[in-house]
Amino acid sequence: MNDLYTRHRNVLPDWLALYYDEPLEITHGEGRYVWDSAGNRYLDFFGGILTTMTAHALPEVTKAVSEQAGRIIHSSTLYLNRPMVELAERIAQLSGVPDARVFFTTSGTEANDTALLLATAYRRSNTVLAMRNSYHGRSFSAVGITGNRSWSPTSLSPLQTLYVHGGVRTRGPFAALDDRAFIEACVEDLKDILGHTRPPAALIAEPIQGVGGFTSPPDGLYAAFRDVLKEHGILWIADEVQTGWGRTGDHFWGWQAHARSGPPDMVTFAKGIGNGASIGGVIARAEIMNCLDANSISTFGGTQITMAAGLANLAYLVEHDLQGNARRVGGLLIERLRGVAAQLPGVREVRGRGLMIGVELVRPGTDEADPQAASAVLEAAREGGLLIGKGGGHNTSALRIAPPLSLTVAEAEEGATILERALRSAY
Ligand code: PMP
Repeated sequence: MNDLYTRHRNVLPDWLALYYDEPLEITHGEGRYVWDSAGNRYLDFFGGILTTMTAHALPEVTKAVSEQAGRIIHSSTLYLNRPMVELAERIAQLSGVPDARVFFTTSGTEANDTALLLATAYRRSNTVLAMRNSYHGRSFSAVGITGNRSWSPTSLSPLQTLYVHGGVRTRGPFAALDDRAFIEACVEDLKDILGHTRPPAALIAEPIQGVGGFTSPPDGLYAAFRDVLKEHGILWIADEVQTGWGRTGDHFWGWQAHARSGPPDMVTFAKGIGNGASIGGVIARAEIMNCLDANSISTFGGTQITMAAGLANLAYLVEHDLQGNARRVGGLLIERLRGVAAQLPGVREVRGRGLMIGVELVRPGTDEADPQAASAVLEAAREGGLLIGKGGGHNTSALRIAPPLSLTVAEAEEGATILERALRSAY
């Protein structure tokens, strides 16, 4: 065990689990590559969804952050804050939400917590609909609406949560259904729940489940839900913490694949928007955002330094059409990995869109999830110089691929070659 890992174990909680038998210390990065403390270089196929949406050490963001740090970092909320107003304007304009208001937090958890605060206050109900297999964060309320048991360490939620089908159909009763039949079955399930509950405040859902293993529901699922929700006045909160800002390639927001019934009532975002600076937030129609009748501020949400990072990062990704890049390069990567999957019986499915790609592993010849294979592939990929993630259901049998959105075709090829070798070594 290396010295830093021993110290980590001695002072940090046991449940702060790390990847790899020999955990990695990443010391620096550039573009799509990172280096560890032993000087090894890795192509980063996972950091894009964690923090670094655009590129490691992006000079435009570094410059904006250091200039702002040298000027002022003060209260985000008690005085006028120019970068916060500018970023809110930009996000409202890109959001698709009519008459949008934006509130900044420091994390995705706090963003979802705020969305729940607004929804429950607006609707005067503490019953919430959430999806099975979902992940929404680690606060008391976010844990309560997280359907993925592996990430929900307590059941003592302040909310009454009812879980809806629709996130996953890899196996179980929905596995054999085609898209239309799956949507119909899930809508029936939703109607059944609504027939036996107090009026819920909202449905919160990830357009593609992130921690849940990048599972892609059929396009239009949430539009079909929305038709039912609207009849009951129930709000739709899209958790775009992983799917926002062009990652899915075809769309700027994940909800747009489900847009028939219009935009969500609220959108939550976080992670990579600051390319590493801790920004989260909620976008809501004014009527909902303004329903609170007392102050509710966040000391660090919207601080000048994170807003400067967000502005520089957003400008870069729009100017360089990184959404288009995610569509093109992600499309090639998905095709390439589907070719590999066709030759390996342990690879059940390559799914996702843009640069958000899930690879579901099973014990060959069966339908059983294979978490050991997922861990083995993660280790082998690391040996080969590639970082990927894992996730999925209660058994973590999916590989997760989410590189920075500036990934080049050559890098996609390089990563696919390493991953193919790692998959072959595991089966
Ligand atoms: N929502 C989703 C969909 C997420 O993936 C995450 C983080 N994995 C969160 C919320 C929570 O974000 P944070 O870790 O910034 O609190």
